[in-house]
Amino acid sequence: MDNRQYVGIDIGGTKIEAVLVDGEGNVLNTGRIPARPGAQNVLEDVIAIARRMGGEPAAVGVGLPGQVDSVNGVVRDIVNLDIVELELGREAGEALGVPVQVENDVNAAALGAVALIDDEIGADDTVVFLNFGTGLAAGVVRDGRVERGHSGAYGEVGHIPVDPNKYLCNCGQRGCLETVTSGGSVAKLWPEGDPPLPDLIAKAKAGDEHALEVFGIVQHGLADTVQVVAQAYDPRLIVLGGGMAKTGRPLVDMIVEELERREATSHFLKSLHLPDRLRLAPVEQPIGAIGAALAAPRV
Ligand SMILES: [Zn+2]
Repeated sequence: MDNRQYVGIDIGGTKIEAVLVDGEGNVLNTGRIPARPGAQNVLEDVIAIARRMGGEPAAVGVGLPGQVDSVNGVVRDIVNLDIVELELGREAGEALGVPVQVENDVNAAALGAVALIDDEIGADDTVVFLNFGTGLAAGVVRDGRVERGHSGAYGEVGHIPVDPNKYLCNCGQRGCLETVTSGGSVAKLWPEGDPPLPDLIAKAKAGDEHALEVFGIVQHGLADTVQVVAQAYDPRLIVLGGGMAKTGRPLVDMIVEELERREATSHFLKSLHLPDRLRLAPVEQPIGAIGAALAAPRV
């Protein structure tokens, strides 16, 4: 049993969320401040919110977007926050006097989501967390740890170029899954409603012709994404997270409808029972910050 406390911090483009947790992962305190761009501001904000959490944390974990080098504690190329490079692990660690671990934000959210739905997950089970945010990426957790791969690109399924519409992607390829299934791309394909996905679903259900067309593109891409991670990683569960998961049950329904259409002509696909393995992430909770606390060093 771990009697120590940990701080977890989730840095987004607009806000910074933090939690203080005990060794069992129970949340003891929470906090939130607006994010300010610039490396020096981000460093100061991390130090300030970690101190504000109180308690006696043994270590701190921080989840961030961009290129995150967890081994060396360095983050690079966070466009939203105007950061080229920041040695966050070392600099925040020196100021706070405890080890500070940096982690990719999708991986941190994956750890947090798995911890909050762990009653269904065995120790050896693999869980895939799909982050439908500005972009699309997967965090893959096995035995309570995130998979990293050879270059850290493990789970970058958003840039698999398979979509027949061949829209241009930020990465320079065409037809990436991200161009039809991320929150950012749905907002581009359906620039009505705030948020756009519930509006798109409602108008498609009402029979609007253009809405039906866009709905079909997004639905097809979502089912492709689920199949890619299901067949590549064969996880126990596929957890739907990120901003688009706030759509709730209608998001799951739209994926299941397409999977069932495909299953009708494929024994193979039906045998995988994919609809049974889908879950919504508990997006009303600060899963990114909780997961960052779980990523904090235990030594
Ligand atoms: Zn791409």
